[in-house]
Amino acid sequence: MTEDTTMTGHAGHSLHAGGCLCGAIRYTTDGAPLRVTYCHCRFCQRSTGSAYLIEPVFERQKLVLTRGTPATYEHVSEGSGKRLTINFCGTCGTKLFLEGERFPGFCNVFAGTFDDPNWFARTPENSRHIFVDYAQHGTVLPAGVKLFAQHAIRLDGTPLEPVVHDQPRTIGPRD
Ligand SMILES: [Zn+2]
Ligand SMILES: [Zn+2]
Repeated sequence: MTEDTTMTGHAGHSLHAGGCLCGAIRYTTDGAPLRVTYCHCRFCQRSTGSAYLIEPVFERQKLVLTRGTPATYEHVSEGSGKRLTINFCGTCGTKLFLEGERFPGFCNVFAGTFDDPNWFARTPENSRHIFVDYAQHGTVLPAGVKLFAQHAIRLDGTPLEPVVHDQPRTIGPRD
């Protein structure tokens, strides 16, 4: 597939394209992510089959499906009791984005599905790691970035205080 990954639209909007492995589902996002979450929770580990999910967050209306319609799977979070909807390709199984009942109007893109997954910045200001209590052994948590043991926000909406390390930290059996 040789589609442009970056197209400049009207009024300085910048569109970034992504899609699934087989190409049946394609999408674009408009503008920079509101923030970038690295999530180490068990839901993200199990659903990706990997150590953590990198999820740039957008207003849902900034994500436009340009080809195909994703299948959906609804999971009820054990922690919050709220629904999480995984949007995935029914043909090849690639997961594309999440929508959460807890944060209506927003979506979290599976960063690896962008044609260029490095197009957006990941800075100490815009990114954070959450659920680091569940990070897998061998995971390296960077220095200078906000780390949250679990969620960044309590169910009642109260923000929680992050920890910031001045040295990178590797998760091991004793952490
Ligand atoms: Zn597919
Ligand atoms: Zn997670």
